[in-house]
Amino acid sequence: MSANPTRQNAIAEITNREPAAVAKTEPLGKIWADDVFSLGRMEWALSKSAFKSIKKTVQTGAPLDPGTAEVVAAAMKEWAVSKGAKFFSHLFYPMTNITAEKHDGFIIPDSEGGAITEFSGSLLIKGEPDGSSFPNGSLRMTNAARGYTAWDPTSPAFIMHTDNGATLMIPSVFMSWTGEALDKKIPLLRSNAAMNEAAQKVLSLMGETDIATLNSSCGAEQEYFLVDSNFANSRPDLLLAGRTLFGAPPAKGQEFDDHYFGAIPARVQVFMQDYEDQLYKLGIPAKTHHNEVAPGQFEIAPYYEAANVAADHQQLMMTLMKATAKKHGFMCLLHEKPFAGVNGSGKHVNWSVGNSTQGNLLDPGKTPHENLLFLLFCGAVIRGVHLHGPLLRAVIASASNDHRLGANEAPPAILSVYLGDQLEKVFNDIKEGNLMTAQQGGAMDSGLSQILSFDRDPGDRNRTSPFAFTGNRFEFRAVGSSHSVSGPLVAMNTMLADSLNWIAGKLEPELAKGTSQAEAVAAVLKELMNEHGNVIFGGDGYSEEWHRIAVEERGLKNIPTTADALPALREASVIEMFESTGVLSPLELESRFEVYAEQYVLSIEVEAKLVIDMAKTIIYPAAIEYLTTLGATSEGMLAMGVELDNTVAKAVAGNANAMIAAVAKLADALEQHDFESTEVHMQYCATTIRALMDEVRTAADALEAEVSDELWPLPKYQEMLFIK
Ligand code: ADP
Ligand code: MG
Repeated sequence: MSANPTRQNAIAEITNREPAAVAKTEPLGKIWADDVFSLGRMEWALSKSAFKSIKKTVQTGAPLDPGTAEVVAAAMKEWAVSKGAKFFSHLFYPMTNITAEKHDGFIIPDSEGGAITEFSGSLLIKGEPDGSSFPNGSLRMTNAARGYTAWDPTSPAFIMHTDNGATLMIPSVFMSWTGEALDKKIPLLRSNAAMNEAAQKVLSLMGETDIATLNSSCGAEQEYFLVDSNFANSRPDLLLAGRTLFGAPPAKGQEFDDHYFGAIPARVQVFMQDYEDQLYKLGIPAKTHHNEVAPGQFEIAPYYEAANVAADHQQLMMTLMKATAKKHGFMCLLHEKPFAGVNGSGKHVNWSVGNSTQGNLLDPGKTPHENLLFLLFCGAVIRGVHLHGPLLRAVIASASNDHRLGANEAPPAILSVYLGDQLEKVFNDIKEGNLMTAQQGGAMDSGLSQILSFDRDPGDRNRTSPFAFTGNRFEFRAVGSSHSVSGPLVAMNTMLADSLNWIAGKLEPELAKGTSQAEAVAAVLKELMNEHGNVIFGGDGYSEEWHRIAVEERGLKNIPTTADALPALREASVIEMFESTGVLSPLELESRFEVYAEQYVLSIEVEAKLVIDMAKTIIYPAAIEYLTTLGATSEGMLAMGVELDNTVAKAVAGNANAMIAAVAKLADALEQHDFESTEVHMQYCATTIRALMDEVRTAADALEAEVSDELWPLPKYQEMLFIK
């Protein structure tokens, strides 16, 4: 495919590659959760009373007494040491999308020159990494350097293996010395608690007496690309930015739709199976895998779990996916848009809330009684998305996801809710007051229950909606493939808590007056639909028409970039909601705004520097070399009296000049450092810097189409996407 020696060698290596050595696969029953310090293991290892106490904490979030922590620590250490662990680490999730760890040995030297292992309750409960080494936004002012990690007993500890070692990993929260959240886990736990509290209120108003703790659930579908590392390693942009900053479109892209659900290439399947065996050992229920739309793109989805555990597992999945891909000679790209002109990757966050007594409250169910609860919870979500669309947009905002949102492949940058035909009709009927009139006395009549008894499976799907009801859950489809799921889960839980509180506030006086439940619910939902029904949309989210209607007629916001989206975190209504639900203090929220804004600016600046560097040191020399060849040939030909056509030389020279001129402008633009505010700085990156990067790329990609293939140093799209 290529005559360039570097690229040719890469292709030769891939062609002759030996398959990666993979351990023989074992039956699921043998490996499932083998490396997890699960409740089952604790039951076996702990006294009855200690187990009862830890189980209560795990299942309801009740506080754990220090005595139990001591006993659990001893059992955990014993188990880990028996599996070869010599180190332990608190595992935590700073305000970036990464996972952080700090390893400590179990070892303590004794006085006779020997060594013993030690691990106390206090070591399990608290760790102390340097807080100032992680992004903390304005919290820098209030905390010096101290940061604490603290064990989260509701997410199981586990063992990570390398080829010759093992480490006990302890999922933890991360906070400042003054107790502010510095991570993504604390707000998630708090948002669950806020949602539980509000849901309890609504459920007891609705006459429920036995109400178990409510939790949110999450099943996240993860899309990703695999590129052979022989190619990836010779692309500085893939190595440093995770996406191609240059690259002309290949002759064949995804237009044949021949990759989606196609046969999985054997080498990729070997990777997937190796990866999934590791997930099973860690108790992560990998459930589906398949090819995605773009060539070289795949998807994996685990079975859903409690949101907090699912979020930890999702982080682990991303880490392991990259490491395992490397072992198999691939680079795994989690970037939202690694290749221009080819579909990008997202993460669909499937979310529901429920408990062991009332079940999944987003499941329409069969009986009208359950349906009333469902309608309230579903209505609460509708209100939440309408009121807090800009917040939902902000929590999925990143420099990388901006490339994907709003393009014709991913949900638009306008937040609307898709309910499906039947449910949309139910809510519209409620809005029209039809359900009220059909209802008599305290009981539902058949008309009402008929409308409500819709099929669990909504039948149709809407791939163009960012926020879709899919039978028994909502699917937030606009989340980026590299993102932590925590931000979206926090926003969804919190807006639900806020809406349920609002609903409770409306229901309570009505019910106190003696209004029947059905009537009170219908009245609340009618008001809710009148105010927020505008956010429901079942049509084509990609269409121009919707973009116009959404903004002009529905009053929804179209928020194209992160620079436009993040300021939502500074809106009074958002600050108020997070504060009143106890999920994030104004200071914590402000620090998040600052951290995310800084990450946005930094990632664009890094890419811009890389664009300059690659254009000058890789692409320009290739163009000049080609021009030199053409010039020499032309001169030689002239000496023989033959005139060579100079169109190509002119095109190459023209594009090389244009590229270098754009590089100069971009370098100049990067010199600008004085901005009156973070918002202005972000806008500058979104508009000026990005536009200049595109200008460089346009000229460079034109060169790729002109310069001799033999001289082109960067692996091309067709090679990276199609050679496996
Ligand atoms: P699709 O690709 O059709 O959307 P998948 O089966 O690939 O569906 O993924 C759906 C995800 O939603 C899975 O992770 C699944 O476990 C999860 N899921 C199913 N039911 C629920 C629920 N009630 N709450 C949260 N997630 C759920
Ligand atoms: Mg899906």
